[in-house]
Formats: sequence, C-alpha cells, structure tokens
Amino acid sequence: MASAPTTAPPPAPVLLAVRDVSKFYGNDRAPALEHVSLELQPGEFVALLGPSGSGKSTLLRILSGLIEPSEGDLLVHGAPWTGPNPQVAIVFQSFALFPWLTVLQNVELGLLAVDLKPDDRRARALKAIDLIGLDGFEEAFPKELSGGMKQRVGFARALVVQPEVLFLDEPFSALDVLTAEHLRNELKELWMDRSLPTKSVLMVTHNIEEAVTLADRIVVFGANPGHIRVELPGVTPEQRRAHGPAQTRLVESIYRIMTNPDEDPSTFLERPKRKPARRRAKPRYPALPAVGLDDLAGFVQFVSSIGGRADLHVLSRDLQMRNDELLALIEAADLLRFAEVAERTLLLTPPGEQFADADLDAEKAMLRASVLEHAPVMRHVVQTLRDAPSNTREAEDLVRELQGAFGAEEARRQFETVVDWGRYTELFSYDTADGELRLDEEHGIAVDG
Ligand code: ADP
Repeated sequence: MASAPTTAPPPAPVLLAVRDVSKFYGNDRAPALEHVSLELQPGEFVALLGPSGSGKSTLLRILSGLIEPSEGDLLVHGAPWTGPNPQVAIVFQSFALFPWLTVLQNVELGLLAVDLKPDDRRARALKAIDLIGLDGFEEAFPKELSGGMKQRVGFARALVVQPEVLFLDEPFSALDVLTAEHLRNELKELWMDRSLPTKSVLMVTHNIEEAVTLADRIVVFGANPGHIRVELPGVTPEQRRAHGPAQTRLVESIYRIMTNPDEDPSTFLERPKRKPARRRAKPRYPALPAVGLDDLAGFVQFVSSIGGRADLHVLSRDLQMRNDELLALIEAADLLRFAEVAERTLLLTPPGEQFADADLDAEKAMLRASVLEHAPVMRHVVQTLRDAPSNTREAEDLVRELQGAFGAEEARRQFETVVDWGRYTELFSYDTADGELRLDEEHGIAVDG
C-alpha cells in the first residue's frame, strides 16, 4: 500500500534538554536530583514547582551549565554540552546588582561577553530598559531604587543578551505582594504579546498561582531525592488572560498534588490530559512470591505456635527478618490460603492451622493441592508437562515464556521459585545438568487438567 503524503510540520527543535540526569553532592554523595529528563521547546513558558529541597535550583544550574550533572546529559540543540551555556540568561531572586554602577551600566554589564561596539551596546541596553519600564532611571544607582525597580534591572540585564532561553529563579519572591503582582502581570503581557527577545522561559517558583498565571507547562517536583512527579499542561492563553475558573481549578489540583506528596498525582486531576505511561502487558500469571516452601511451612508453624495470629510489627521484630522477606512469606501464606491479613494482623485460616499441625506427607499433599488451585503459573507448568512428549520440557523454553510475562530479571527469579515449589510438592523435578523439567510420575500425573 502506498503511503499517504505527509503534510505534518517537522517536529519543533528542542532548545534545551536534560536526559536522565542525577546530581549527588558532597563526600557522601547525597542525591539532590535523580533520573530527571526534561525538554524545552521554542515558544514555551515552563514553570518548575515543588517543595524546598526538591532539586529545582540544582536542575536550573545544570541546565545553565553552571554545574555538571553527576550522571546523564545536558543537550543544547540536541547535542551534548558541557560548560556555561551561552544561550541562557538568569534573573535571580536576589537582584545581584553592582551598587557602584548606574542602571544603564548594570544593564550593559549583561553584554560584557558579547563583542559589540560601545554605541551598539548602549543602544541595546536602552532598548531593554525601555521594554522593561525603567525609562527615566538610566542614571540612577541601585540604592535609589525600590525592590520592584531593582528587579526590573535584573530582567533588563538578562534580556539585553537576547538569550534563547530566559531562566527565572524565583524572581518575585523577594518583593512585597503588590509589587510582585504588578511585575508578574507585566511579564505575562510581554510574554503573551511576544515582546520578549527570548524564545522560551523556564521559571522556578514556590507559588502555584504564579505558575498557573504564567506557564504553558507546569512541572511538579517531589523531594527525597528530587524528582519530577508530574508534568501538566497549563491553561490556555485565553483562559490566562481572563483569569477564569479553569485557572482556579488547576491551582486547586496542583495544591492537592503538592500537599499529598506520597499520592499518585493523577488522583487529583480532573481529566488527566497526559497519555498514561505505557504499561507492560498484563502478566498471564500473577508473580509467585520469592519464598521457599520449606520456609513457608516453618513460618506458618511459628505463627501457629504463638496462637495463630500476630501483629506484623511483632513478627518483624521476633523473626529478625528484612521487611521484603517477611512480606514475601506473608504473600505466599495468603496466596495459598493459609493466612489472611487484616489491618496490621496476620491470622491463620483453618486450613493454615491444619497445615501447621500436619506431618510431612500431609503437609506436602496440602501444598500440592493449594499450589495447583491458587498459583496459576504452577498449574500451567504441570499442564504443559503433561501434554509434552515424555512429560519433559526445556527449562529455557519456560524461562522464555516467563520473560514475556515478567521481563528478563524477574523471569529468572520466577523460574527459581517455580522450580523450588515443583520440587517441594513433588509435582515435577528439574535436572540442572540437562536443563529439563520432568513431571513426577506419581504426583504430577494425578493432576486434574
Ligand atoms: P530547591 O531549589 O528545590 O529548593 P535545591 O536544588 O536547592 O532544591 O536542593 C536540592 C538538595 O540538594 C537539597 O537537599 C540541598 O540541601 C542540596 N544541595 C543543593 N546545593 C547543594 C550544594 N552546593 N552542596 C550540597 N548540597 C546541596
């Protein structure tokens, strides 16, 4: 079949990106940021929101090339980059102005690294001063300016270089509320009118309203260590201008996401606009807990010996086990219907009590019945062995099947558990030398198909 001619525009080039970036600080290599990937396209205003210590400033410094990531890459126009990134200019929270220079000289300072004639430099500085509403203050010194006017100088000094990407690091948080509101609205107008001499803006903020008022895209960070929890589209420019209910709803959703750091963010979204992450195909069989049946028998007997019920904390203390090991035992006991968990208590079921009191033959018979009834992967293996010539199967063949359901690493673990359970219940054997699984003549054959 001939393919239809495509009229779709080519994808927009990515200005700036980090790919799977992590940052560890200090001798103990404490992680500040883990496995973060982010792209910045032309025309976007992106806000980074998140609690203190979630790595937002660290990411900003990595993107600007001021520090290097410990792992992962910084990409400028798609190519790996190290060192300061000349495509970026930053407006800081603390205005960082030179007190002995005038407004004009402070703004011209932004062009120090650019090869320009003095007249051209002055012309560009005056243009930036004009754009940002500092007209009339060219010859003033910083100490003569209010906080809001000082921050305008900060903006003019960054914009005068006409950076591809403007970075704003909490630019309004040192200002009083009204001044901040005023300057924020001006920035919004300049951005929406496309008057800013920059292609994209990346802003770090604590302020949800501010992010929703300004941004096309909002990236919410979580802490310990810093990571991206969710990326959300902002409201449309029209809704932003009108400041209507769509904005209020988005502010509320983000507020709930941020005040519930351990919950899945999608719980708090009205209509998730992002495509859900692609999931692995549902396994045909649930995974077996990685537990030997011998250990399971000992565990059930122990619980029986302390009255058939136990608080999970007490179990973890008395058995001196790692949590994951204990959880696997509990999961296995639950899967095979020997125990149940209610709240924080593990309770043996009547079959569980019976199992605890059984002699070895009876114990194995109970396990056999239970495994075949409640562990589908075990039933599957026994059935395929019954159907196979000479009742044998290549182990590698089963591993491949398990890989399809669980992925390579987990498939190996599942295989080991399947073999342990098969041997212990005497349903089938596994010969490591020839790599074959073989149905047990006595117990395996007697299975109901
Ligand atoms: P945010 O901007 O979200 O508040 P930061 O990027 O400033 O987060 O910090 C993330 C984590 O990294 C914090 O735990 C912080 O203490 C740590 N951190 C930041 N900078 C440094 C540094 N230079 N040396 C050691 N630790 C740092």
